[in-house]
Amino acid sequence: MSSRNLLEPWFSSAAVRRAVASFSTSEHVIETAIAVQQIPAPTFAENQRGAWVRQRMQQIGLADVSVDPIGNVYGRVPGHKPGRSLLIAAHLDTVFAAHTDLAVRREGRRIYGPGLGDNSLGVAGLLHLGHALREHQIVPAHDIWLVANVCEEGLGDLRGMRAALQHLRDRIQTVIALEGTGHDRIVHEAVGVRRYKITAAAPGGHSWQNFGAPSAIHTLVRLAERLTHLEMPQPRSSFNIGVIEGGTSVNAIAESAALLLDLRSVDPHGLESLVQQTEAFIAAARAADTRITITAAIVGDRPAGRISRDHVLVRTAAAAYHAAGATVAYGVGSTDANVAISMGIPAICVGIADGANAHRLDEYVEIDRIGPGMCALLWLALAASS
Ligand SMILES: [Zn+2]
Repeated sequence: MSSRNLLEPWFSSAAVRRAVASFSTSEHVIETAIAVQQIPAPTFAENQRGAWVRQRMQQIGLADVSVDPIGNVYGRVPGHKPGRSLLIAAHLDTVFAAHTDLAVRREGRRIYGPGLGDNSLGVAGLLHLGHALREHQIVPAHDIWLVANVCEEGLGDLRGMRAALQHLRDRIQTVIALEGTGHDRIVHEAVGVRRYKITAAAPGGHSWQNFGAPSAIHTLVRLAERLTHLEMPQPRSSFNIGVIEGGTSVNAIAESAALLLDLRSVDPHGLESLVQQTEAFIAAARAADTRITITAAIVGDRPAGRISRDHVLVRTAAAAYHAAGATVAYGVGSTDANVAISMGIPAICVGIADGANAHRLDEYVEIDRIGPGMCALLWLALAASS
């Protein structure tokens, strides 16, 4: 069956057409996105936002609304038939600290606000998809689980998605990770990520009196310098030392220092090569001065993997976005879809609207693509759960 044909039955349904018409304005979705965005939700502290989402899921009338021990919020849209379900997940967490000024401003056809596109709009899209299905009494072929999950960003290490798939186990056939922005990009390749926190510890001392005693900072910066010479494997790979900290005073030999290193590759072998090079540099640094203790903790481990561009899920998503007037591109990312792909569950990540500057205070969302993005999501959800 062609992917266009997969959408066909849903195009002709009067209820689906009414739901599509409800997205001709996007103000209700924007309102929800801003309400979500106004609740701080740094990774590991998503509870308040999760509680709000749980209440909305109950108001919408989703089945089996619940919160798991780590804070993932679940709701189910019951399907016609038993069988394995579609899971659509939007992450609750943001990269912004709890004290961040979350003021939102509109400028022309844009709305600015930290965390608005990544991922308050994704969460709002999840809720409005559920609402549209319930409101217009559209019953999908199989169950659709809607999950607002924790810990997608940074050191959260996709912990929320891992727990959600553990929780729903064999019930899930297909996974769609939903982001607020990037509506024209279907992510079907998962970038593998390995993250280290490398710590150096030394006896320390006075900068003058104990000069010559080993310094945790001096050792760590030498190691950091070596890491900047990591050989990059092909295909695309990257490294970044994102944080470096340590020491107590300008005239104290540092007792401790630490850095955070992020290694990425689209290829599992490429990632393995980066890991081996890193481990070798660490071993060499340890051997260079035994008075210093160097520890390397893995603080992030996201598997690489992909589903083919010809996979029916990718083709269905492309057909849905084309039908909504988008020009589709294909992409690579490190998203909640990584977890599913590594478990052998077909998964993609898609976005609702256009936007830019994710992870920056001047992040914005383009208003005009929200309505079409919601239509595409609705068609995709119905076809992917068929
Ligand atoms: Zn995101």
